[in-house]
Amino acid sequence: MEAKLNYSLKKQNSWQIPSIGDKVYLPTNIEEISNIIKLNKKFGLWLGLGSNILLPERIKTPVILPQKKLNKVEQLEDYIIYAQAGVTCVKMAKKCIELGYEDSIFFGGIPGTIGGALNMNAGAFGSETWEHVNYVDVVDINGQIHRLNKDKFQVSYRHTKQPFPLRYIGAAFKFKKGCKDTANLKLKELIAKRNHTQPIGTFNCGSVFKNPYPQHAAQLIEACDLKGYTYQDAQVSKKHANFIINIGNATYDSILHVIRHVQSKVLKETNIELENEVIIL
Ligand SMILES: Cc1cc2nc3c(=O)[nH]c(=O)nc-3n(C[C@H](O)[C@H](O)[C@H](O)COP(=O)(O)OP(=O)(O)OC[C@H]3O[C@@H](n4cnc5c(N)ncnc54)[C@H](O)[C@@H]3O)c2cc1C
Repeated sequence: MEAKLNYSLKKQNSWQIPSIGDKVYLPTNIEEISNIIKLNKKFGLWLGLGSNILLPERIKTPVILPQKKLNKVEQLEDYIIYAQAGVTCVKMAKKCIELGYEDSIFFGGIPGTIGGALNMNAGAFGSETWEHVNYVDVVDINGQIHRLNKDKFQVSYRHTKQPFPLRYIGAAFKFKKGCKDTANLKLKELIAKRNHTQPIGTFNCGSVFKNPYPQHAAQLIEACDLKGYTYQDAQVSKKHANFIINIGNATYDSILHVIRHVQSKVLKETNIELENEVIIL
């Protein structure tokens, strides 16, 4: 399949950092994914909605965007939903809520794709992606497709240890039956609560740092007087200190500068090392 050359990825990352992919693929089916990997002899960079990644100005490795065309979600049987990697978590939540699966509503709080959520073990409102996984379909570095049960993976907070190098192409999830109206109501309440505390409507990547249990990254950053700290349009949110927002023309370098500054000040003042949740390329 043909790659798009010099493709802008600015709209493909939620920080809206200007980034250009030298070679970008928009696969429409699994066979194409397999062929892209065989042709390039590497995975390249897989991007969902770019809601948890800091992209550099230029990306030389091939970029794969499954969410443009690999975005089907369907019910396989009662309580089992299959979603392709490119399905957005919000679309997944809508489909599941329609079926009355109340325990799926956390997907409605994650602004990424199923592929990204599997990779990050994304979670919200007290639930995590892998709690619901039945099996995943993956592609290996030779372009071979495998169906793997959940027990092949070691899963922890915002992390998934894979049995071998792979990328996700889809997964089957299991939910419990509940009430559609209650699910809708609960999701609305949770989103409203979140909108009250997070800088929704700005260009950001969600929480930048993992919470260093039992502490909260945001509290540590706030205690170090870093709320509002700004460097070349990259700003520590005044609303939620674990968010860094692009207030204009922030770049890879300016966001990275703010990340490093926050880490070093928090380490100096509290002796706690903040680990990135956001993937930095
Ligand atoms: C406002 C806001 C709020 C957020 N709130 C939360 C929250 O409550 N909880 C939470 O967990 N996260 C949250 N996030 C972060 C983010 O939404 C999640 O981490 C999400 O799962 C990332 O999905 P994505 O598709 O955008 O992945 P991307 O950011 O595109 O990619 C993330 C990583 O996954 C890899 N990847 C992407 N697709 C695949 C694939 N198919 N196979 C293998 N690897 C892949 C990428 O290469 C990259 O390493 C928030 C982000 C924002 C902007």
